[in-house]
Amino acid sequence: MSSITCPECGSANTPDSVFCAACGASLATATPPPPPPAETTYQPPPPTVSPVERPTGVTILGVLAVIAAILQIISGLILAALTDNGGFIVLFLIIGIFYFITGWGLLNLKKWSWYIALILSLIGLIGFPIGTIISIIVLWYLFKTKTYFGL
Ligand SMILES: [Zn+2]
Repeated sequence: MSSITCPECGSANTPDSVFCAACGASLATATPPPPPPAETTYQPPPPTVSPVERPTGVTILGVLAVIAAILQIISGLILAALTDNGGFIVLFLIIGIFYFITGWGLLNLKKWSWYIALILSLIGLIGFPIGTIISIIVLWYLFKTKTYFGL
C-alpha cells in the first residue's frame, strides 16, 4: 500500500498520514478493516428464504376483483340516487366489500380467497354466455395456480 486515499476529497496521502494533507479529514476510516480471522469450523450459509412469486394471472384476478368492488359500490350509489332507495347501497356495499376482501386475499395469496374465488366463479357460470366463458377461464386458472395458495 503506497498511499491512503482520503475518504473526503480523494487526495492521495502518505501511508503514515493520520489526517488528510489536502482537507484535514481524519484518515482513520480510510484504512481497510483487518481481514476476518480464518474460520476454523465450516459454517453453512444461511438458507435464503425466497418469497413466493405471485403469477401474473393471480395479480390480474386480484386487481379485477378490486375493480369489481369499486364498480359495485359506485353502482350502489347510482342506484340509490336514482331510485331513492337506500337498500341498494347496503346490498351493493356488502357485495363490494366482499369482492374487495377477495381481491386483497388473491393478491396476498391467501388460501381462503382461492375458495371464495372458486365459489364466485361457480356462481358466475350462470351468466351465460359471457359470464360462463369468463368463469370457465377463471376456474381453469384457479386450478392451475392452486399450489401458490398452499393447496
Ligand atoms: Zn482530504
